[in-house]
Amino acid sequence: MDIFEKCKRFTKAAELIETGNYPYFKPLSGNDGPRVEMDGRSVIMIGSNNYLGLTLDPRVIEASKKATQKYGTSCSGSRFMNGTLDLHLELEEKLAKFMNRETALIFSTGFLANLGAISALAGKDDYILVDRSDHASIYAGTQTASGATIKRYRHNDMDHLERIISNLDKAKGKLIVSDGVFSMEGDIVNLKRMTEIANKYGARIYIDEAHGLGVLGEHGRGACEYLGLEDQVDLVMGTFSKSLGSIGGFVAGSQEVIHYIKHSAQALMFTAAPMPAATAAAIKALDIIEKEPERMKRLNYISSFMHNSLENIGFDIGHSNHSPIIPLYIRDDEKTMYFWKGLFDAGVFTNAVVSPGVPSDQAMIRTSYMSVHSDQDLQKALEIIQNIGKEINII
Ligand code: PMP
Repeated sequence: MDIFEKCKRFTKAAELIETGNYPYFKPLSGNDGPRVEMDGRSVIMIGSNNYLGLTLDPRVIEASKKATQKYGTSCSGSRFMNGTLDLHLELEEKLAKFMNRETALIFSTGFLANLGAISALAGKDDYILVDRSDHASIYAGTQTASGATIKRYRHNDMDHLERIISNLDKAKGKLIVSDGVFSMEGDIVNLKRMTEIANKYGARIYIDEAHGLGVLGEHGRGACEYLGLEDQVDLVMGTFSKSLGSIGGFVAGSQEVIHYIKHSAQALMFTAAPMPAATAAAIKALDIIEKEPERMKRLNYISSFMHNSLENIGFDIGHSNHSPIIPLYIRDDEKTMYFWKGLFDAGVFTNAVVSPGVPSDQAMIRTSYMSVHSDQDLQKALEIIQNIGKEINII
């Protein structure tokens, strides 16, 4: 059997491309944040994670330009060998302070941070307990954690987590890993119950704050801060590719644990270090988040305005709550694609999420918002969503 045979049989995407209904890898030829240029026209972007609009902030751009001029375009090696810059250490120190943790360790992407940290921590004598809706990078971490036993519990279902954990070998290590804000559903981890379970069964907790950082909590530290439970969480992870307007990721926690990850995570030690431009951009973005809390306030206002509006129009938004990620559940792959195309043709870009990314009965249009969206853009987007939704009988 030719290993390439499956590629020949894979026709699903080609069929969508042919009919003009393919929603992925769509090129942007210009980007103003809330509006982007696609297919030669201006489209309202409600499918980006640029929550605070910082990718186009002149101060962030200037910082990344300066870093390129000073250090060049690449680190040309891993953090472990020749690739660590003083800038990386500056960002780690800033992140540790911001997150109120002893120390932090940065990786080249958020995906690598999860993959590296989880696989470094869990081995053959350990269990990793993961929410079924956890991000793919968390699953990648579990798959590379050599010999660890993986247990999946139903989405945010702490009774299920407890049933599973209570049957595990008491002598083995246990790490519960969850998104803080779930990347597709936009709901928040049921952390209170999780911490009680972790305490009862001697497990550690690792929370991915990719979508909570710069969004939730008084200081923008994420879901754990928002829920007032930071001191119950052992490790937090975050990315720079969302609120921080850059690319990269980090884990933060105690000196001892981060030191261990630093000397064990292959995804840190054997990949090139974060670019100087990306590192400087994240440093500047953190400064701005601290100094300009009004950005987060505006984002929170927009999130609740869109929650209310979309629900009032008649959409099923599931359990999305307080977050700028608002799914419109269609619960049918084909209809979801059709809705996506209708929205796009009318001038709104969203994300179509269908199987196998999620089960078909959870197929959705994922919408997400930025503090820099104008009221007019949001009104226009709502009008289009309502019209197309009615046209194709979703609402
Ligand atoms: N965790 C979550 C919850 C995410 O949604 C993502 C990316 N969408 C990542 C990790 C990976 O982050 P990055 O894109 O920065 O690699």
